[in-house]
Formats: sequence, structure tokens, C-alpha cells
Amino acid sequence: ENLFFDVLNCFMFQTSERISHCRLQSNMRILVTGGAGFIGSHLVDRLMGNDKNEVIVADNYFTGSKDNLRKWIGHPRFELIRHDVTEPLLVEVDQIYHLACPASPIFYKYNPVKTIKTNVIGTLNMLGLAKRVGARILLTSTSEVYGDPLVHPQDESYWGNVNPIGVRSCYDEGKRVAETLMFDYHRQHGIEIRIARIFNTYGPRMNIDDGRVVSNFIAQALRYYPLLPSAFNGTAIVDASASALHPCSGEPLTVQAPGTQTRSFCYVSDMVDGLIRLMEGEHTGPINIGNPGEFTMQELAETVKELIDHEVTIVSVENTPDDPRQRKPDITKAKELLGWEPTIKLRDGLPLMEEDFRQRLGIPKK
Ligand code: NAD
Ligand code: UDP
Ligand code: UDP
Repeated sequence: ENLFFDVLNCFMFQTSERISHCRLQSNMRILVTGGAGFIGSHLVDRLMGNDKNEVIVADNYFTGSKDNLRKWIGHPRFELIRHDVTEPLLVEVDQIYHLACPASPIFYKYNPVKTIKTNVIGTLNMLGLAKRVGARILLTSTSEVYGDPLVHPQDESYWGNVNPIGVRSCYDEGKRVAETLMFDYHRQHGIEIRIARIFNTYGPRMNIDDGRVVSNFIAQALRYYPLLPSAFNGTAIVDASASALHPCSGEPLTVQAPGTQTRSFCYVSDMVDGLIRLMEGEHTGPINIGNPGEFTMQELAETVKELIDHEVTIVSVENTPDDPRQRKPDITKAKELLGWEPTIKLRDGLPLMEEDFRQRLGIPKK
């Protein structure tokens, strides 16, 4: 019996010593789930930039890609694990950024049952891991928890207006349960939690065909080539040199009806800064992280047209069910508690994304 307590004491002493040693040296071992995705890979770049951090990424590559992390593969402080968060994960870490979950409506609706499992079982597993190793865990929740909001702008005290049985529910109700789990583990087991409610984010590395509005409009504007009247018979033909550059020429910007619905777009570097401040700060949240600049989808299309190609056409297409009509974060809490606010305006961020998309699509500037 004594031997058992000796071993236990020794283990506990070593563990707490290891953790306090790590924290003293600010040596952190950090797990990023979903780290091969859009926001996750930018977060990894920032975390790896601090040469005291060791970063482990766990990702099943559903919407993410190794390519987003290629500069870190083989680095001694970096590890990439193919792992689905709906399965238990055993690693020893000090912090967990839990991002794993498809974010684009096309992908989260593709297999809604899997999306729910990712949000619920995935978050449960990461909380179980946080509990076992004493790690602090941050969940990337979403403005979708406000549903089609009846309060505008949305602050964190608003409980939302969500359809529990709609086609978006796998995502927004999934994230609501994930938030509930976070707070229950916090209250019941004393886990250190952080919840970020992320509003629409854009920037380089977004999947070109992931269906989100900013990536759609930029890709469409770049792939657009005007229809030229034929010199011979007056019928329209596609400019031949343009179609040789890209087979999908002639794509207009598709504004889903009615086009008056609004969103607020945050550039990815601002988002990553907000997430790190939240993790390092003293507040559990939930805290809105987003850019309060609000645009209708028609305005967004016109801005993309003005910045990328004046000749591009804008068409109205059918919308999907339960599309929120308005969305704009109240970021008072983020400003006061984290000293954070976004610095990059939409007009400045879009050209940075354009450059990345041009490179990936192989379309040089005209
Ligand atoms: P993304 O789709 O680019 O990244 C998600 C990553 O999670 C991908 O690498 C994907 O392969 C991985 N993943 C998905 N299911 C998984 C599973 N079961 N196990 C392991 N890995 C899994 O999306 P993103 O835009 O980078 O979003 C990251 C997080 O931020 C998500 O939690 C999302 O809900 C949240 N969020 C994003 C936005 C936004 O505008 N981008 C808005 C609100 C919330
Ligand atoms: N879990 C995990 N990694 C760990 C510890 C736990 O993935 O290091 C998973 C575990 O498989 C379980 C979940 O987290 O499904 C919740 O764990 P917890 O200990 O809170 O609950 P219990 O195992 O008692 O149901
Ligand atoms: N949208 C659009 N054209 C597109 C894709 C989306 O007008 O090609 C609209 C969509 O109806 C919604 C808004 O853009 O009102 C944001 O959609 P997205 O899928 O980017 O994100 P979310 O709905 O999750 O905010």
C-alpha cells in the first residue's frame, strides 16, 4: 500500500513539476485539432513562430490538407497526426485549440450526422483529454449559435434563434452542444475553458471551391472572361486566349437571393490574434471574435467586382434554407477583456486573398 502511495506521489510531483516547469519556461506543448484547415494552419504558423512552442496537429483531412502545413513537416517542434477527433486521442499537452469541424455549409451539410458527431463526440473527447492532462482548452464556436438572429448586432448574452431540425442544425446545434459540454466540464471538473464565437473569416488558403461566399466571389471573378461578340455572325463566343488559360471561363458572381442578407468578414490574421489572446487571457468567454464591418452580399459582390474585374457580371441565384438574414458581432467584450479588435478592413484583405487565389489557380494579373 505504501509503495502505491509513493509511486502516486512521485507521479503527481513529477507531473506538476513538469507542468510548472513548462509554464515557467513558457515552453508549451500545444495541440491544434483541425490544424490542417484554413484558420488552423494560420494559427499553427503563429504558434510555431514562438520557438518555445511544440505543436501537435490532429486532423482527418476532410476539408484540410497537409499542403497547408508543408513548411512545418519535418520540423523538430512539429508533429502531424492523421486522426479523427470522434475517436479518443492520447497525447500529453498543456493547451488544446479545438478547431476540428468543417466550417463551410457545403461540407458540413454533406454528411450531417458526421458533423454532429464531430461537434459532440469530438468535443467530448478533447474535454476528456484536457481533464486527464490538466490542459486548458479553447473551442472555436461560431456566430451560427445565434441562428437567424432577432437581436442586432449580436452580443454574447443573446441566446439565439436556431432551427433545431433544419439543414444547418448539424452545425449550429452541434456547436451549441459543444459549448454546453465545455461549460459542464468547467463547472463539474474544473477544466480551464475558453470559447470563441467566430464570425465569418476569410483569407489566403481558403479552399477555392468550398462554397463560402468570399472564396466563391474571388474565384468567380478570377475565372471570369467576357463573352466577345463574334466578328462574323454576331453570336457570342468566349475569348479564346482566356479560355485557354482556364476552362471555367465566363463565371459570374452568384449572389444568393435576396442579396440583402448581411455578413461581417474578419481577415484571418486578425482572427488568429484574437484566438491567441483569448487562450492566454483570464476569461472563459464566450467571446465574439469578428470584424463588425457589415456588408450585404450584393455589396460584397460589387466590391469584388470593383477590386478584381470591372467587367464581371453579377447574377442572382436561389438561396439555401434557413440562411441567416443579418450578422454582425458586438465586440465590446473582446475589446475590453482581451484588448483585441480587428485591424484589417475588407478592402485591404480582399487583395491579399486575390493574390493567393491567382497563384493557386495559375491566373496572372491582367
Ligand atoms: P476548415 O474546414 O478549413 O478546417 C477544419 C479542419 O478540421 C479541416 O482541416 C478538417 O480536415 C478538420 N476536421 C473536420 N472534421 C474533423 C474530424 N472529425 N477530426 C479531425 N479533423 C477534422 O474550416 P476553418 O474555416 O478553418 O474553421 C475552423 C474552425 O473555426 C471550425 O471549428 C469552424 O467551425 C470555426 N469557424 C470558422 C468560421 C469561418 O468563417 N471560417 C466561422 C465560424 C466558426
Ligand atoms: N478521452 C480521450 N483522451 C484522453 C482522455 C479521455 O480522448 O486522454 C476521451 C474518452 O475516451 C472519453 C471522453 O474523452 O470518451 C470523455 O472522457 P472522460 O474521462 O471525461 O469521461 P469517461 O471516460 O469517464 O466517459
Ligand atoms: N452566398 C452568396 N453566394 C455564394 C455563396 C454564399 O450570396 O456563392 C451567401 C449566402 O447565401 C449567405 C452568405 O453568402 O447569405 C454567407 O454564406 P457562407 O456560406 O459564406 O457563410 P455562412 O452562411 O456560414 O455565414
